[in-house]
Amino acid sequence: MKKISILLIFISTVLADVQFDEYFLPKTLRIDFYQTGDARHTIISLDQIKEELIWAGSRVNLIDDLDLGEHVAKVFDAATGELLFSKGFNSIFAEYVTTQPAFDGICKSYHNTVLVPYPKNTVRFTLSTKNRENLLVQEFETLIDPDSRFINRDKNKYNYRVKSYLNNGDPTKKVDILVLPEGYTKKEMKKFRKDIEKGMKEFFNTEPFKSQKDQFNVFYIETPSQESGVDDPRAGKFYDTFYDLTYNTLDIDRYVQGCNNQVMRDVAALAPYDQVYFIMNSDKYGGGGIYNFCSICYSPSQQKDPEWWPLYAFVHEFGHSFAGLADEYYSSEVAYNDMYPVDVEPWELNITTTTDRKKIKWKDLMGPDTEVPTDWGKGEYEAIPYSDSQARYDFLRNHKNWGKVGVFEGAGYASQGVYRPYMDCRMFSKSLSPFCPVCEAGLQKVIDFYTK
Ligand SMILES: [Zn+2]
Repeated sequence: MKKISILLIFISTVLADVQFDEYFLPKTLRIDFYQTGDARHTIISLDQIKEELIWAGSRVNLIDDLDLGEHVAKVFDAATGELLFSKGFNSIFAEYVTTQPAFDGICKSYHNTVLVPYPKNTVRFTLSTKNRENLLVQEFETLIDPDSRFINRDKNKYNYRVKSYLNNGDPTKKVDILVLPEGYTKKEMKKFRKDIEKGMKEFFNTEPFKSQKDQFNVFYIETPSQESGVDDPRAGKFYDTFYDLTYNTLDIDRYVQGCNNQVMRDVAALAPYDQVYFIMNSDKYGGGGIYNFCSICYSPSQQKDPEWWPLYAFVHEFGHSFAGLADEYYSSEVAYNDMYPVDVEPWELNITTTTDRKKIKWKDLMGPDTEVPTDWGKGEYEAIPYSDSQARYDFLRNHKNWGKVGVFEGAGYASQGVYRPYMDCRMFSKSLSPFCPVCEAGLQKVIDFYTK
């Protein structure tokens, strides 16, 4: 029996590889585009299609069945219509369209990129976005002839060395994280390396990354900024930095995005990468994470806050960018309006709007006797000041439902109508809490997607 299953695994691996080699070359087709619009209208416009030399994604899992992200890119064989490749992702644009300026009709453009394996024959490329009901609506389509003279075949203008923090081998079988420095001058690269060390130590001390460490590669590239620091508009500080990251994204002080995506992609193309992680040379609390776009965290060796704050954020943001995990908290200021309508089930793995036990996506992890919704002393918890994180921590751990997977009200920026699976989680409280069992299982699923 064992022999048969090994044979089956062998055959399926070979078949999958044949499929990759039948349709793709082991390099990347990078598709750059703009998402433009307001809360009501979207236009996708093509910027450029570029040939890049490394393919770091899976050669086996070409169709993305994780069903995560606001958007999905698909590649079809133009001759037969067969789906050859797909990938889910999120965008800062999808967040912008939920903000007040977008509702007021102010159109903005955001640059984005999809990486697909380089096709051998002409393909049909499509981009779709989930609507309010979470149904995919196609927004863009074009034919791409891989031999076309319209494909940019420029050599990479950068020649920085790719260094390795952790190398476990073949990037097509690993999760490849590329760490980039923002706002570190040439002289400050020692601090950048120290920051990688501190952040990654916490990362690989957290499950499921701890026991899956051999499934990861971590590379970094030392791109120096002209000036030291990160743009902080509310403090009137602006610096000449490599990637143009900025605090106060969507007018939320702690929220950092705004990277020059073309520059980021050009640098990243030097390395095999599935995920980009920016570490910022800043002592000010902040960061961000967008699914399959990038993670951002402030300096893990900063001197201003308690030492553990950036370590909390370092792992929390990766939860967003790697597995599309939702914020389970609901008390901090955000810019979004009606991000999770309570009559629609969100696609994120770790929040739900249903209290129908049969429909709860993490029902398999729940005990049969767990009440739905599950009491967690919400009113008493909320009465404890936000600043007293120790008291909040102790309260949760002494509650009768601590340790149970259930359906706890208050999640996804909404105190009512949106539920999370556990009383505490790295996606809920500002603490060094582990991921809850549901988030951990979700992260594991994504690790498996890249590595199995
Ligand atoms: Zn969680």
